[in-house]
Amino acid sequence: MILYNSLSRKKEEFIPNDKKEVKIYTCGPTVYHYAHIGNLRTYIFEDVLVKALEYLGYPVKRAMNITDVGHLAGDTDTGEDKMLKGAEREHKTVMEIAKFYTEAFQKDFEALHLRWPEIVVPATSCIDTYIEMIRTLLEKGFAYQSHGNVYFDISKLKEYNVFNNQSKEEMVVGAREGVEDDMGKRNAQDFALWFTKSKFENQALVWDSPWGVGYPGWHIECSGINLKYLGEYLDIHCGGVDNKFPHHTNEIAQSESYIGHKWCNYWFHVAYLNLADGKMSKSKGEFLTVTTLKEKGYEPEIYKLFCLQSNYRKELLFSYEGMDMAKQAYQKIASKVRSLNVESITVHTPSDTIQEFQQNFADALANDLNTPMAVTVLFDVLKSNLTDDEKAYLIADFDTVLGLDLKDKIGKPEEATEDNIDAELKTYILQKIEERAEAKKNKDYAKADEIRNELLEKGIQLVDTKEGVTYQKV
Ligand code: AMP
Ligand code: ZN
Repeated sequence: MILYNSLSRKKEEFIPNDKKEVKIYTCGPTVYHYAHIGNLRTYIFEDVLVKALEYLGYPVKRAMNITDVGHLAGDTDTGEDKMLKGAEREHKTVMEIAKFYTEAFQKDFEALHLRWPEIVVPATSCIDTYIEMIRTLLEKGFAYQSHGNVYFDISKLKEYNVFNNQSKEEMVVGAREGVEDDMGKRNAQDFALWFTKSKFENQALVWDSPWGVGYPGWHIECSGINLKYLGEYLDIHCGGVDNKFPHHTNEIAQSESYIGHKWCNYWFHVAYLNLADGKMSKSKGEFLTVTTLKEKGYEPEIYKLFCLQSNYRKELLFSYEGMDMAKQAYQKIASKVRSLNVESITVHTPSDTIQEFQQNFADALANDLNTPMAVTVLFDVLKSNLTDDEKAYLIADFDTVLGLDLKDKIGKPEEATEDNIDAELKTYILQKIEERAEAKKNKDYAKADEIRNELLEKGIQLVDTKEGVTYQKV
């Protein structure tokens, strides 16, 4: 597999430390609010990455944190704890907020057919690990205590700004903010490993530590959870591009200083989902969730297809015109999948043509996760002259990676219900059913057939049952 590695800024062949178990870490959500569809774009591609690796024959072990403490309003050490802000907003405790939004996040995963990682760890459950890491970093001289807090000293590193994705201007702004905010830092970009109450008196969750009662910084949680659950060698670390600096830069600084060798080989970053006026974020612009999209008539699978039809490394502009096109495309795929006349989706010895399609699909995935191409292969299958059984077999196969809820639709015509047929069409169908009954009574079978075909053209199939005539979507 070829993957773009943000660390080398090149496409590289993916070579895992251990082919039998690829270790992947995902920065999880800060559970102070619902995930917006920008956040979910990142999780969609991380899920596809895991499933693509599996499709290509690499078993994966994946861990994700849930940030329930320590992520301040600014990604540097500025502002209030986001969790505390969420709790204040909703007049609840931090733990209540964390539970509620973790469950909401899990529901988003289900709706988008994303697999919940096998290891999911709340940041508050690993305090001992962070304390042990910070103690060692102090001993090794990579950290220092100042004004009651513990900071990482970036001047002790050979190279700090490893992703090199910051403009000089941003660095200056970051430095100014840091200096203003924390006079205790030796270097402007030093960052907190442990805060004591001296910084935020109203912090809800605090723990005892050798440096006083307090709480961990945001970055140390991902280093700690990684070390505890995935060990000293990580294959792929994932996140949105905004995590490159400072979060991932700081994770690398801490983890490699603590472990004493290179830690993670590949960094996978998903580009932003943008609104016309800039990046979608929780603090500004339209706050769109899976639920709000659903209310506007777009099922989660449609948003997923919208994402998959663009490359994960390119910024994606959200628009309702784009969503309408994805909706049309999804409905086209779904209706073709439903109309397959299937005896069995198990193919015992795949034909050459089947294998060729599978190869094209695998090649698309192996080419730095080219999902637009993978979706095109799916369309090609539906357009091909394979038998319906063969098509069904391939759709089910591809759906293990794309997760577009196609497997369960194979050969199952959609039942026409109050919900999915508009009132006008329904009245029309009932009128046609009556006309057809009349025609049959008069032995005018040609007319009866004509009515049946006319409805078929509109995507409605009449079904004659003992109880009378019903209809379904095709
Ligand atoms: P947070 O809950 O803020 O910690 O963010 C969760 C994930 O979503 C992180 O990996 C972020 O980098 C990512 N993210 C945040 N905003 C966007 C966006 N507009 N588009 C894509 N990913 C994003
Ligand atoms: Zn993280």
